[in-house]
Amino acid sequence: MSKYCANCGEELVDSAKFCRNCGTPLNVNVESNTTQNSFTPQVVEKDYTWLFILGIVLSLIFPLLGIIAGIVLYTRKNAANPKAKGAFVIAIGVIVWILSLTVLRLM
Ligand SMILES: [Zn+2]
Repeated sequence: MSKYCANCGEELVDSAKFCRNCGTPLNVNVESNTTQNSFTPQVVEKDYTWLFILGIVLSLIFPLLGIIAGIVLYTRKNAANPKAKGAFVIAIGVIVWILSLTVLRLM
């Protein structure tokens, strides 16, 4: 069994998606192409879990490093105005920590 191109009349195989002579797409395959563009839920869930774990690690490690750096700055004697700098770094670390925990809770 053969079908023929509506545009140029070229004889085509049944599985053809385009006319091999003029390149015209065949109407039979238009609907099946549009339905194949939907995402599967499993892939989305996998990426979501990976991001969630990354978020937890980053939200715990980064602010902790910031607070440790702030404490080091705070206790340094020879630096100019160490207490103000240390308190500033600790405050940023705590704010980032609270923000990241809030974002994780919303996820
Ligand atoms: Zn054709």
